[in-house]
Amino acid sequence: QKAEWATLKTAKSITADGKHFTIAANIGTPKDLDGVLANGAEAVGLYRSEFLYMDSAELPTEDDQFEAYKQVLETMSPKQVVVRTMDIGGDKHLPYLPLPEEQNPFLGYRAIRISLDRDDIFRTQLRALLRASAYGKLGIMFPMIATIAEFEAAKKIFEEEKAKLVADGVKIGDDIELGMMMEIPAAAVLADQFAKHVDFFSIGTNDLIGYTMAADRGNERVSYLYQPYNPSILRLVKHIIDAAHKEGKWAGMCGEAAGDPVMVPILLGMGLDEYSMSASSVLKVRSLMKKLSTEDMKKLADKAVNESESNDDNIKLVEEFTK
Ligand code: PEP
Ligand code: MG
Repeated sequence: QKAEWATLKTAKSITADGKHFTIAANIGTPKDLDGVLANGAEAVGLYRSEFLYMDSAELPTEDDQFEAYKQVLETMSPKQVVVRTMDIGGDKHLPYLPLPEEQNPFLGYRAIRISLDRDDIFRTQLRALLRASAYGKLGIMFPMIATIAEFEAAKKIFEEEKAKLVADGVKIGDDIELGMMMEIPAAAVLADQFAKHVDFFSIGTNDLIGYTMAADRGNERVSYLYQPYNPSILRLVKHIIDAAHKEGKWAGMCGEAAGDPVMVPILLGMGLDEYSMSASSVLKVRSLMKKLSTEDMKKLADKAVNESESNDDNIKLVEEFTK
């Protein structure tokens, strides 16, 4: 197995019937790039920028952020890097940015909700990203988008900062993609409409499963409800992918499920374009993909979505289709 994985490091991610999909890696800091390169990921599908804020004693300056983003973009170029704007709140806190006490932090002031409210912080981050875009292929996505109005508000601020930098003669990449995390059920249900506004979707299953099942994975009493293969979750995921494709956009997944050997066969059958996972899973998933044919996986996905009644049904179904 080790020998096989070694040959896969420089290989593309191809299915048994010759279809190419992108296997990307998730990172938290530029230090994680070593693992990304060592495992031959084809892109960075999620750079969790909040770690820049969490590892700092005060708000990181525009220049601090620029240096970090530039380093990641340069190292990965010409491969794409998708940076997610700050996702603070929920379980992530900043000592220098006191957040209000809330009864339900996961349903509260978090991520894009903070960024749109504190647009001083948001503009600084976007300017750093725009300046760094000259050094590679940048994608930017917004976390915890619930409504089209939020996406459009974030995009408007992005366009304003871009126009200012262009007016100042700053060099900016000409192919920046603007997308969103799909991790709130309300957005997933309206994916067909969102797809007209975005360049891409990245499905955040960690939150999408939690919010859809109304179950916190960290709470042992209800962890049995944390069901990635529940047909309800799979229907949302399929709807998101189909909606993107109908508008000629791409769909990725950057939650844990993207690197899960039970989920990957189903996702291949649904035509998910990009699989972003921890770097240590890249070769395992590339090896798995090589053994699967998309035609068979389409049949699997169809049954998983339309006939199965439970998470367990789908675990058995994947076993049957992949043995
Ligand atoms: C997710 O929700 O699936 C995700 C990738 O974001 P995070 O785990 O950082 O909330
Ligand atoms: Mg999330």
